[in-house]
Amino acid sequence: SGGRPRVSMLSRGASLLTSTLSSSSPISLRMASLLINEPKYGFLRELGLSEKNHGVFDGTWKASGPISQSINPANNKPIAEIVNGTVDDYERAISAAKAAQDMWADVPAPRRGEIVRQIGDKLRSQLKNLGHLVSLEMGKIAPEGVGEVQEYVDICDFATGLSRTYNGQIIPSERPGHMLLENWNPLGVVGVISAFNFPCAVYGWNNALALITGNALLWKPAPSTPLTAIAVTRLIEDVLKANDIPTGLCSLVCGDADVGQALTKDKRVNLVSFTGSTEIGRIVGQQVQGRFGKVLLELGGNNAIIVADDADLDMVVPATVFAAVGTAGQRCTTTRRLIVHESKYEEVLERIKRAYAQFESRIGDPLEANTIIGPLHNPQGVLKYKSTIAEAMLDGGKVEYGGKVLDDKEGNYVLPTIISGLKHNSSVILRETFAPILYVLKFKTIDEAIAINNEVGQGLSSSLFTQRIDNVFKWIGPKGSDCGIVNVNIPTSGAEIGGAFGGEKETGGGRESGSDSWKQYVRRSTCTINYSKQLPLAQGIKFE
Ligand code: NAD
Repeated sequence: SGGRPRVSMLSRGASLLTSTLSSSSPISLRMASLLINEPKYGFLRELGLSEKNHGVFDGTWKASGPISQSINPANNKPIAEIVNGTVDDYERAISAAKAAQDMWADVPAPRRGEIVRQIGDKLRSQLKNLGHLVSLEMGKIAPEGVGEVQEYVDICDFATGLSRTYNGQIIPSERPGHMLLENWNPLGVVGVISAFNFPCAVYGWNNALALITGNALLWKPAPSTPLTAIAVTRLIEDVLKANDIPTGLCSLVCGDADVGQALTKDKRVNLVSFTGSTEIGRIVGQQVQGRFGKVLLELGGNNAIIVADDADLDMVVPATVFAAVGTAGQRCTTTRRLIVHESKYEEVLERIKRAYAQFESRIGDPLEANTIIGPLHNPQGVLKYKSTIAEAMLDGGKVEYGGKVLDDKEGNYVLPTIISGLKHNSSVILRETFAPILYVLKFKTIDEAIAINNEVGQGLSSSLFTQRIDNVFKWIGPKGSDCGIVNVNIPTSGAEIGGAFGGEKETGGGRESGSDSWKQYVRRSTCTINYSKQLPLAQGIKFE
């Protein structure tokens, strides 16, 4: 793996997207080698995909940009081709979204909820097919792929209910004959820029909530997961069509950073919901703020599990392994740091190493039933895995388990890795490496453990394993974890849609999905209505 040249890498990663495919081989040969033509991937055609797919939807499917291939990370073979969007295509799509929103804003919210309910049902009917596409294109195992689609279904249910209940307040007015109330209005167009690792659910969270609150959407997915975006948009298109709603309401432009940039800088995009790295999020956030647009940032994490001296280790071990190696370490909520009380350190480390060893035979094709750990998304991820481990060793780290690229396999496979012996604030630990690398650290007091949890720049997810009530309330209180997700006796990953999802500091401060996250998609109108015949001015001022 790692670094071996592959024809199919032509389209992998943002900067490679513009590579032209036309000179490499005759079209018929190129098409014949696509995975979509193999019977075992028949589900792709059931989702309406073909050998060559237009990656722009503005009510019709039409794209004029460079052609790329979507690659299967399990073997680096091309799945199908995509005609990407250009900035001109983007112009068409934003106009269509804006026009559709004009009509959509007048549809009563419960009726909008009914459309979202139908989108949920449509997704249910394709749950397995779409989940398997997520798995094939992103590289996560099939249950995780299906689980991702299920999250979209669940948020549709949530949003359907919300469409009848999201309400403003009536506030007692200090003036007689006056009514003071809040009304929530749509923002307009919500631009969604998404990351490769959740190619379906992140859009789903935005889509369901933005729709019931009366917005249109324009989606720019990650350049390496366009097929999932096309398949999802096709399902939405069917529902909108069946209800006589302009289908440009949910527009799509597959493409590179130039399309992301056009969207970020466009005043017609009232909210930019960005999910991705802190590095790009920092740029996007400042640009949107520069034009006083609204921005919702869901950026990198550097999540820790703290194991207190009284923790139940029968819970700690499976929780840690699940959260550290699940999705091959490519979740924003992956556990990257394990902070263990010194009295339990040796035992926890030994037990986790044993658990890792048991899973070694279950690394493989994400669509195989026995697989529990899939590949990294791309060869660049493998290179980062290798360089990070090399840097950790230079800093005095010891590889307790793993540390190897599985070169004998076709895809981007690596061994999940455990590293000990580093200082808690060494630079390699302070940054997010999107690979299954777990750093194990020791602590003496709970305050010290909380300080280690909080010392990283990111603030997404955190967990404490303990049975003591004083630990629990310290952890969730003002001197506890500074993350957006603060768990007790469950791991850092696996959030439910009912809660608000997101994190603090360099994670960007955004909240999506449940609780009152819908408030991100609306503007608040504070309305004072005078139904008397008097004009009492505020502060008792008289203009006589
Ligand atoms: P990335 O930042 O490389 O790309 C994200 C998206 O931004 C892609 O669609 C990309 O094309 C686009 N983009 C790139 N440059 C741009 C620019 N200049 N202007 C506008 N858009 C631009 O991230 P990635 O590698 O796809 O995803 C992995 C990262 O996402 C990790 O850091 C992970 O933690 C984070 N993530 C966070 C959450 C969360 O909810 N907090 C969820 C999933 C992933």
